[in-house]
Amino acid sequence: MSRELTTHEKHKFRQQLHTLRARLLGDVKELEAEALRPTGALSGGATDDPGTSEAAEEVARTLLVSEENLLSEVNAALERLAQGTFGQCEQCGRAISRERLEVIPYARTCIRCARAGEREET
Ligand SMILES: [Zn+2]
Repeated sequence: MSRELTTHEKHKFRQQLHTLRARLLGDVKELEAEALRPTGALSGGATDDPGTSEAAEEVARTLLVSEENLLSEVNAALERLAQGTFGQCEQCGRAISRERLEVIPYARTCIRCARAGEREET
């Protein structure tokens, strides 16, 4: 029933992943700059609550971690495209639905396995 992804579809997902990766690389650079910016270096010298900038820095660091995770997921998906295993669930081996791939082109598992995994974690 579930036919293989066509070359055209794979090409489309590859494009999508490349775009996503480029965007992530840009974002990561910006976030790094944000995280590394020394506190209290704002011009004007008005000594605001020092806690505020520290909190913002913390948020930037947290974002940086998840963006890097996402980036490695995107890279792994591109790797799977190159190896011809793209669109295949890593857990049950079934085809991941197109609808799911269109939303999450870097998905490793089918919706069923993803849902099962979520239930196990909680
Ligand atoms: Zn599965």
